[in-house]
Amino acid sequence: MQDTFKYKGMRKKLINELRDKGIGQESILKAFDSVPRHYFLDNAFAEQAYSNMPFQIGSGQTISHPYTVAFQTQLLDVNRGDKILEIGTGSGFQTSILCALGAKVFSIERHKPLHLKAKTIIQKLGFTPRLSFGDGYKGLPLYAPFDKVIITCGAPKIPKDLVDQLKIGGVMIIPIGEGDEQEMKRITKISETDLEIEEFGVFSFVPMLEKRVK
Ligand code: SAH
Repeated sequence: MQDTFKYKGMRKKLINELRDKGIGQESILKAFDSVPRHYFLDNAFAEQAYSNMPFQIGSGQTISHPYTVAFQTQLLDVNRGDKILEIGTGSGFQTSILCALGAKVFSIERHKPLHLKAKTIIQKLGFTPRLSFGDGYKGLPLYAPFDKVIITCGAPKIPKDLVDQLKIGGVMIIPIGEGDEQEMKRITKISETDLEIEEFGVFSFVPMLEKRVK
């Protein structure tokens, strides 16, 4: 894969679209400029890589719309050095955006072929997140607590183990709902027992499923 002036130009256009749709954090727009989305797609889709569309990435899964990635990232309010757990590595695009923002990223994927493919691409880009093949419902207790958690698949409910692995004051961005549509929620862990829950509109994700698949 090569980055060319043509792709760079397409990226600028996408960034303007994201800005028009309300993505105001300049650091996020800069991260979108520095991560070539076409690297994460089959060659056949490369020409459309910078349109605001989801695409098949194998194992029946999809890479999210660029707007959805930008929106979740903006809600997450990433600071350099934040320790972030991502559930659903998928293509690795969202993982790379978080790395470009200077976060220390831990990401889990339940489909082995996707985990391996994402690893190769992310390494080529020079990012160094910790990528795990496993069931995201369990999180990564060995590396907890996390400042932030981002879930990039639709969860039927708030996964308790993941709340346990969040720091007090930490936030989780999670689309919740069964079926084709979910409500985007921001969960703030106020204390060991109290959560604040805010809602940010309807999105459509592939489901968060249990157990890993080889
Ligand atoms: N962040 C990804 C989005 C991929 S779609 C990207 O930028 O491309 C969501 C991903 O979540 C899929 O790859 C799916 O296999 C994965 N997933 C679903 N349930 C999971 C679970 N319990 N643990 C880990 N990954 C899961």
